[in-house]
Amino acid sequence: MNELRLSPSRVNDFQNCPQLYKYRAIDKLAEKPSLDAHRGTLVHTVLHDLFDSPPAKRTLETAIELLPSRWVTQLHESPELQGLITSEKEWLDRAGSLLETYFHLEKPETFEATHREIHLECDLTEKLYLHGYVDRLDVAPTGEVRIIDYKTGKAPKPGWEEKALFQLRVYALLYWKREGVLPKLLQLIYLGDGKLVKNSPTQKDLDATESTLISIAEQIWSATDKDDWKPKPSRLCDWCSFKDICPAHQ
Ligand code: SF4
Repeated sequence: MNELRLSPSRVNDFQNCPQLYKYRAIDKLAEKPSLDAHRGTLVHTVLHDLFDSPPAKRTLETAIELLPSRWVTQLHESPELQGLITSEKEWLDRAGSLLETYFHLEKPETFEATHREIHLECDLTEKLYLHGYVDRLDVAPTGEVRIIDYKTGKAPKPGWEEKALFQLRVYALLYWKREGVLPKLLQLIYLGDGKLVKNSPTQKDLDATESTLISIAEQIWSATDKDDWKPKPSRLCDWCSFKDICPAHQ
């Protein structure tokens, strides 16, 4: 049994499609650039940097002012983006409208972001390392902790919120193991449609999350031993970088 590194993204990959997990986590194949993912990176960068300003300056105007310089830096790091974008104005306007939605959902001038892009990690077992990057983790003066994740897409349909919250429960578990403090609130902020998904995790929820992670790790070890990665075709295939080589589409 080899040592396994898991993050919420890789767990999600395996649950959505074991073959996709193999392409990403084991074969480490390159993927086509996704404009949606790059737009998400740009908006995340602006929301991260917004909290460098003093509270009174954390306004929509400041966020919009940050956009062009952060975009130039991103283009410098990923020059291939230039050829994918037909109108830079439209691209920045769309990012700006996602930022506008953010200001309908939170008032960043009223609180401090204690941690941004914090890396949490732990050895869940001797062979299982778990980690993740949290967009924002706020510790209130009372000591209460909330964990925030920004999404540039739309909120899940009714009935699918639990699946979406799994990622934040993993972060809550990591924080609980590190600090011995159970986060009070988990919050997903959907900038695509201006909705929030919130949850207050209990100790029982985090115990269940840990059991799920161990069960998924066992399934991955079993798939590795048998070299058996079942493709699981779904709507996701239309966005999958590996459709051309996937056995399910031959
Ligand atoms: S194309 Fe579909 S079935 Fe194949 S790896 Fe991608 S998500 Fe899985």
